[in-house]
Amino acid sequence: MTNSIFDKQQLSALFEELNKVNSILIFGHKSPDGDSIGSTLGLFHYLKNKGIKSQVIHPDNYPGFLKWMPENESMLIFDKKKKEVTELIEKADVIFTLDFNDQTRVGNELGKLIANATCTKVMLDHHQEPGDYAKYTFSDVKSCSTCQLVYELIEANEDLDLIDEDIGNCIYTGLLTDTGSFRFPATTPKTHLIAADLMERGVNHSKIHEHIQDINTTDRLRLLGYTLNNKLEVLPEIKTAIVSLTMQEMKDHNTLKGYTEGFVNMALSILGIEVAVFVKEDEKIVKLSFRSKGDIPVNEFSKAHFGGGGHINAAGGASQLSVQETIDKIKKELPAFLEQNK
Ligand code: 5GP
Ligand code: MN
Repeated sequence: MTNSIFDKQQLSALFEELNKVNSILIFGHKSPDGDSIGSTLGLFHYLKNKGIKSQVIHPDNYPGFLKWMPENESMLIFDKKKKEVTELIEKADVIFTLDFNDQTRVGNELGKLIANATCTKVMLDHHQEPGDYAKYTFSDVKSCSTCQLVYELIEANEDLDLIDEDIGNCIYTGLLTDTGSFRFPATTPKTHLIAADLMERGVNHSKIHEHIQDINTTDRLRLLGYTLNNKLEVLPEIKTAIVSLTMQEMKDHNTLKGYTEGFVNMALSILGIEVAVFVKEDEKIVKLSFRSKGDIPVNEFSKAHFGGGGHINAAGGASQLSVQETIDKIKKELPAFLEQNK
């Protein structure tokens, strides 16, 4: 059905290597999402079922709504265990990078450690413009998620029967979160066939939706209410909506990690709006999230003006300016960009 990115010869060479070595590390990206945690743990469980030991590592902590995932407690967080992770990288035989394709996406410090490692590297990812650092590059920029690619890797290895409930739960989570519950354009018939197959293999889809979506606390709902009421700016002339939050505002609402997830999609859901931006003040930078409908390449806008990237309809970036100055810059640059990309 899909044109597989998995070359049989390449795969068997990789697995021959994996079977010989002692230390395999699997990295996901900074500010881990469902696809990063799901794909790394999904691969971890698959390798385990094949008798291959590995260690999953993420750069920083992840939201509470992902903390139910099987074996998530065995993952190492670089921010908390710098010495241990540094030593592991020095000794590693194989490093997997999942759900990112550019070593800066794990942060500068960890990115340098991975870049300096001379071991075998494997990239499995679906973002645009893959970097050229891996011995084995499995990149499909059309795929909805890295979790779909983990499934397709297992399929190409003729190992679908090794998929148990743990692997299924992990893969289903990434499919769900990266497709916005199977609604973004990158969702294909194959995505649904994979979801169906995972259900047949024991995945309780309903429970996963509950874990991921029924996660509101009173504080989060009040933060959302505050944001939509006070911090939503709609610009009908350029079919754009901007939401923003400062650190102080988030502090005032007892904001925890993951609370602002999805706010940008709410802005995009306004009738007639085609571009949504979330401008969020962080400790050292202002973080930007872009979303769009149709063919508007927000990744290119973010790359041109905010050193970022991502997908056509979902991208991120950063700004050194204040929140207000960042909003002003968006308002200044976006109209011409939209005009050029009509
Ligand atoms: P989010 O808005 O959910 O943080 O990110 C949306 C998409 O853009 C994700 O696929 C993410 O990988 C990508 N992305 C987010 N921030 C950055 C960034 O700073 N640089 C690049 N190249 N991609 C990013
Ligand atoms: Mn992803």
